[in-house]
Amino acid sequence: MCGIVGIYDRGNINAANAAYYSLVAMQHRGQESAGIAINNDGIITCYKDMGFVNEVFDERILGLLKGDMAIGHVRYSTAGASFAANAQPIVVKYKNGNLALSHNGSLINADLLRSQLEDDGMIFSTTTDTEVIAALIARNYKGDIVEAIKNTMEIIKGSYALTILTDNKLIGVRDGYGIRPLVLGKLENGYVLASESCALDTVGAQFIRDVRPGEILVIDETGMKSVDYINNLPKKICLFEHIYFARPDSIIDGISMYKARENAGRILAKEQPAIADTVISVPDSGTPAAIGYANESGIPFSIGLIKNRYVGRTFIQPTQSMRELGVKLKLNPLRDNIKGKRVVMVDDSIVRGTTSKKIVQALRDAGASEVHVRVSSPPVISSCYYGIDTPNIEELIGAKNTIEKVRQYIGADSLGYLSIEGILAAVGSKGEGFCTACLNGEYPI
Ligand code: 5GP
Ligand code: MG
Repeated sequence: MCGIVGIYDRGNINAANAAYYSLVAMQHRGQESAGIAINNDGIITCYKDMGFVNEVFDERILGLLKGDMAIGHVRYSTAGASFAANAQPIVVKYKNGNLALSHNGSLINADLLRSQLEDDGMIFSTTTDTEVIAALIARNYKGDIVEAIKNTMEIIKGSYALTILTDNKLIGVRDGYGIRPLVLGKLENGYVLASESCALDTVGAQFIRDVRPGEILVIDETGMKSVDYINNLPKKICLFEHIYFARPDSIIDGISMYKARENAGRILAKEQPAIADTVISVPDSGTPAAIGYANESGIPFSIGLIKNRYVGRTFIQPTQSMRELGVKLKLNPLRDNIKGKRVVMVDDSIVRGTTSKKIVQALRDAGASEVHVRVSSPPVISSCYYGIDTPNIEELIGAKNTIEKVRQYIGADSLGYLSIEGILAAVGSKGEGFCTACLNGEYPI
């Protein structure tokens, strides 16, 4: 779970500003650390730290990051522990100077590759799989950066969307299955690469297209060059991007995240109807599906939970009783719309079931006469090894429990999930094109 960006803006000494705004637009993709590496006349400098983008950077720091090429990163750790050295971009030395790299995804053979490299005398300064990629590219470099990247893609296994900054190039890479998203946009005098199209909107870039699975895109003073290096693998974009992770105003591989979720809600209403007075959402992630559910079922949508936007990652929970209040601090029922009502509560997913249980209880406390939980995705039954922070299988409530057991645990009057066929139909798929490992255990790699 990370967001990456790359900016190439000829003649603009403030590429860092565009990277900054792109990262703010993708803050939802990672809240642990943020960083920007900038190229100023061939010299790469990097600034990164723990915290939100607007905590890590201020005007003074951005003012120091001058240059016309930049890459950036927001991180939510999946591989490698959460501390400052593991923040990205990662900068490594190679024959032409420095090379900076931002990575979204997760390698499944990073430990093996790392120990092989260590046996060869390489010393690592982080515990991330990203440094393994950077080290391999640096090591494989024999005068042609694209060849070095190709050779690296031959050995790394897993999911990766990359933005790479060299002394004179910005490069974007997407793994052969296209598990993680990456889009290309046009600035007046340059290009933007970003995990999500909402970042392009934020910096006023024109969407050009998605980077293709297995593609290496090289941008430099001669323009843009594309190499379709791996083109024999089936596309397997992560379906959880569509279910939960990506912003609703983003478009990935031609699919609007908002439309996909609204469709999911509509199909859910047909698959799992309910008799109720109102449909509410668990904001913000459940809202598009709740609107779809309401429109399809004819049951009026209303706002049932108010989200406090200022509860951040850094909130300190001093005592157990305060911790119990945690959910209420973030989501408080709107009594006017709940009291005495039969409520359909729509959420995008149930992972551990702990949040859902607290919200159902809060709705009952607010006077709901019935709470019918509807989930716009199938049960999460398997862990993700490609970059989504799903917990161990022991913690996945859908892995070992029947739907009736889950219903009892969360305390709902009824519980209904969307089917796999339903979620695939919602994203316009006939069953191909997506990684659904977390929903059915079918791992593409
Ligand atoms: P649960 O009831 O499983 O504890 O929580 C369900 C909620 O978690 C849903 O509202 C869903 O949007 C959200 N969710 C799903 N996946 C993730 C994730 O990877 N990280 C976080 N922070 N929330 C998630
Ligand atoms: Mg949610």
